[in-house]
Amino acid sequence: RYQSLAYSRVLEIHEQHLSPVPTAYFPTPLLLSQGHMEWLFDYEGNRYLDFFSGIVTVSVGHCHPKVNAAAQKQIGRLWHTSTVFFHPPIHEYAEKLSALLPEPLKVIFLVNSGSEANDLAMLMARAHSNNTDIISFRGAYHGCSPYTLGLTNVGLFKMELSSGMGCQSTMCPDVFRGPWGGSHCRDSPVQTIRKCSCAPGCCQAKDQYIEQFKDTLSTSVAKSIAGFFAEPIQGVNGVVQYPKGFLKEAFELVRERGGVCIADEVQTGFGRLGSHFWGFQTHDVLPDIVTMAKGIGNGFPMAAVVTTPEIAKSLARRLHHFNTFGGNPMACAIGSAVIEVIKEENLQENSQEVGTYMLLKFAKLRDEFEIIGDVRGKGLMVGIEMVKDKASHQPLPCEEVNQIHQDCKCMGLLIGRGGIFSQTFRIAPSMCITKPEVDFAVEVFRSALIQHMERRAK
Ligand code: PMP
Repeated sequence: RYQSLAYSRVLEIHEQHLSPVPTAYFPTPLLLSQGHMEWLFDYEGNRYLDFFSGIVTVSVGHCHPKVNAAAQKQIGRLWHTSTVFFHPPIHEYAEKLSALLPEPLKVIFLVNSGSEANDLAMLMARAHSNNTDIISFRGAYHGCSPYTLGLTNVGLFKMELSSGMGCQSTMCPDVFRGPWGGSHCRDSPVQTIRKCSCAPGCCQAKDQYIEQFKDTLSTSVAKSIAGFFAEPIQGVNGVVQYPKGFLKEAFELVRERGGVCIADEVQTGFGRLGSHFWGFQTHDVLPDIVTMAKGIGNGFPMAAVVTTPEIAKSLARRLHHFNTFGGNPMACAIGSAVIEVIKEENLQENSQEVGTYMLLKFAKLRDEFEIIGDVRGKGLMVGIEMVKDKASHQPLPCEEVNQIHQDCKCMGLLIGRGGIFSQTFRIAPSMCITKPEVDFAVEVFRSALIQHMERRAK
């Protein structure tokens, strides 16, 4: 137990001195004392199974012993070089990270957060293409900096004053909530329950969404564009998947108009999707720029932009990019240990196996409960979309979703939320989780739904 401050005092300090934006999930916020692998402990000693890993960030487990040891070794050796001096752990890390990406994605820029990585990717796209406009999906989350706010298309994070100029949004090809899509559309072990008339391998929904994409390209000012950003699976929007083949065609259309294609792997990278190390590989595309953060450092603040030598040179011709903390020795030592752990513990394979097991178990709950509209995702990135009933597709009211969420917490399970109505539960645990832990989580979720149905019936 960690008892430096009483719970009531923590709430007081929070209210007086920390950002007033309400970020805590629960009416009585969870006060943590420590974490170990997939487990978190609160200040009263209660244990929780962490199935959201600090918002898809703790990739290999809280306080993983190997990552901790690497951090401890580096902290006693050298913390900081400010990029003007060299230090081998930085170079060893660059070599390790670049080996994980296909040619020609071999030049790395190290920064500190996902927003910073996407800021830099926007600059690169503009510097390289000589164009301004950048396209992203509605529902996308690419950051909260003034520059990336233009790319983020989630109302909650936007302000009505101008920011992120030169950004265009385009329809999100969401095969569950969008106008088109149905069975066989997406790359997931679980398909939507919406029937569609396409034969396997022929997705009319993809063609319909591509027509919308072309419409954005031809009717907006983005006739010649700088770039197109896409998360391989949308995270904040509630684990939204696109129809198979969509990104491949969209990338071609963007390149025909002089733009570069950017994969935002902040949530999907580092093996989380199971079948592949990077999310873009699941769409069979090769981006020009890849951005990564969150899981890259298992919770340590670090991020990266990886691009081609050609694009890197276009940026260097136009400005001197400098970042005091980006790629500092601590981050690099930790980043190296994370990559080693993913490999040594076969965590990508675990994501595939345990993730698929979990998806199929949640799909059974979808068939059991009228208020689960959709179960989707890939590997250990899972979304459970709550609806009033399957026929109407209407989102379950937020207060009801809140109650189910809170009940899961009370039974020792922490999960996340997403979607424009906050109607989707998001599940993205550390990649070390086991099948018995999945069984526990599914049982807790099921009990919370039963409690909810009983409350509703009263
Ligand atoms: N891209 C994606 C896909 C994200 O989910 C996030 C964070 N939710 C970001 C970018 C921004 O990362 P950060 O919070 O580290 O700035």
